[in-house]
Amino acid sequence: MSASDRGKVLFIDLTSGSIEDVILEERFYCDFIGGVGLGVRILYERMKPNVDPLGHDNILGFVTGLLTGTPVPATPRYMVVAKSPLTGTWGDANTGGYFGHELRAAGYSAVFFSGISPKPVYLWLNDGSAELRDAAHLWGKETYETGEILCQELGDQGVRVTCIGPAGESLSLLASVMNDVGDAAGRSGLGAVMGSKRLKAIAVRGKGKVPAADRQCLNALRKSFLEGIDTYSRLKKYGTLEETVEDITLGIAGIKNWGLLGAEAFPNYAKFDCDELINKYEIEKRTCWGCPIVCKGTFRIEKGPYAVDKTPKTEYETFAAFGPMCFNDDIESIIQAGDICNRYGIDTISTGTVIAFAMECYENGIIGKKETDGIELTWGNASAMLAMLGKIVRREGFGAVLADGTKRASERIGRGSEKWAMHVRGQEPGFQDARFWPGRGLIYSCDPTPGRHTAGILPVATTRRRNIAPYPELQFPKVDLLDYQAVGPLHATGSNYYQFINACGFCLFACGYAPMPTADYVSAVTGWDFTMPDGLKAGRRIQTLRQAFNTREGLHPDDFRLPERISKPSMAGQFAGKQIDFGALRDSFYKAMDWDTESGWPSEAALRELGLTELVGPDRSKAVKK
Ligand code: SF4
Repeated sequence: MSASDRGKVLFIDLTSGSIEDVILEERFYCDFIGGVGLGVRILYERMKPNVDPLGHDNILGFVTGLLTGTPVPATPRYMVVAKSPLTGTWGDANTGGYFGHELRAAGYSAVFFSGISPKPVYLWLNDGSAELRDAAHLWGKETYETGEILCQELGDQGVRVTCIGPAGESLSLLASVMNDVGDAAGRSGLGAVMGSKRLKAIAVRGKGKVPAADRQCLNALRKSFLEGIDTYSRLKKYGTLEETVEDITLGIAGIKNWGLLGAEAFPNYAKFDCDELINKYEIEKRTCWGCPIVCKGTFRIEKGPYAVDKTPKTEYETFAAFGPMCFNDDIESIIQAGDICNRYGIDTISTGTVIAFAMECYENGIIGKKETDGIELTWGNASAMLAMLGKIVRREGFGAVLADGTKRASERIGRGSEKWAMHVRGQEPGFQDARFWPGRGLIYSCDPTPGRHTAGILPVATTRRRNIAPYPELQFPKVDLLDYQAVGPLHATGSNYYQFINACGFCLFACGYAPMPTADYVSAVTGWDFTMPDGLKAGRRIQTLRQAFNTREGLHPDDFRLPERISKPSMAGQFAGKQIDFGALRDSFYKAMDWDTESGWPSEAALRELGLTELVGPDRSKAVKK
């Protein structure tokens, strides 16, 4: 595959309306693969440090994975990148569906936006041509409606759209970027960046085919994948929904704003039984482009106060956010909450957490009905939860206090509420307790995008003992998860692998169930003589440049801290009563990555080995030490 087969990279200045397209040299792809890798390579070079995330100088990128658009199974994903307004750190969020494939089919590898448009616009990409168009008629519209209007006015139901909803327009720092029907690049507040640029949507249509260097090899790999498809039968049937009861009962999911854990603390957990939910609400199966696993679905609630005609199947994180976190066991209210988040374009993890935070403030008399606009925000009060969600997505009344996440909300409310604000540097963590899986705690507090639950694969590969890839470098030994010296290097390998598969466009779910020959797929598509050590090195390069982005911003490792409530000994789960030393874990991980444990800056030796010296300069650790 030549560099031109990768397609064009667009650079659009929204202030002037200028559009430039370039073909990157093949070495960019060899070194940074695609997706997040290409995103961080471009942003590090083109963006100055310390820019205002909602200002002219932030760059917002939509970058397809290296394999996106090819017949490689489960590779539909593209990455949205920018400096995060939520955390002030490197920001990225990835999503599946059909949009990434369409971008490749239209002849594009990536689109980067800088500047701020004087009026709302959308970008129309039509088989190799690019045009900014007026979006005044779309401003204020929900995400599904935006997609429908664009398909209609462009006269083609095959047009794929990624857009923001009203939450992004009102610059909620929890806003997501949404594509197709309910696929969310939810984290890092990147919908607010899109809103700040007055970019409502990108609509794309392409009729091209993405070439593969060795079609015969690719067909053989795909055939073998399809022969083993039964391995994915549970993922196919349930998606991540399967985890809900297990995670509640084992003490992995937070209950009452992480104040409680375990089955006894949430006695009605059986209502979240995955078979019951699928049987009762699922009306059809859905998939992402070209993915034979088909793990997605559509839910319907036929009648009652929370009736929803069609909504994407609710997944684990959303059930955890609006369920146990808010002490709510009313299933249908949770499904509706997920639907509202999709329509308005807001992240379910952060939004459920900020409502749980407000419920705890209400319980403790820090706020009352006067502050909540008359809403009785008690634990488990489903209608109150939805009423407050409505206010958040419209940034209305007390909703405006909560619309930027728990950190800002606690600063606005004050009166000691900070102790219930569950975030890592502004971002609310996913619902997998750091103390049940200390590797998750590492990810929450050490990944350059803080609070993320998907930035590594250690828990899957160690605790769940799944063989994730057919390569010796990725056979993880059974390990004592409290052996910090052993866990740090394993997490380093896991996070490097994660960056690699992310940059390829692989879906994390698919890569966590069965051994996926990811490096072989890269060879088959590109024609490179590519091995897993090459993949891990590329992943380490990407992870190190993400880290350098943060240290260049002046951020220090201590700026990334787990909330006290999920750092102290747990009351349930496999390490109940044990104090986990997350500082020792962090040091062990940093050493394995060859990052300075004091400053977080990658060592000069690491930068040289990864070929980053020219890009990021010599060791600057002393410049950022505090
Ligand atoms: S496994 Fe599911 S989420 Fe992942 S690509 Fe396939 S259909 Fe999409």
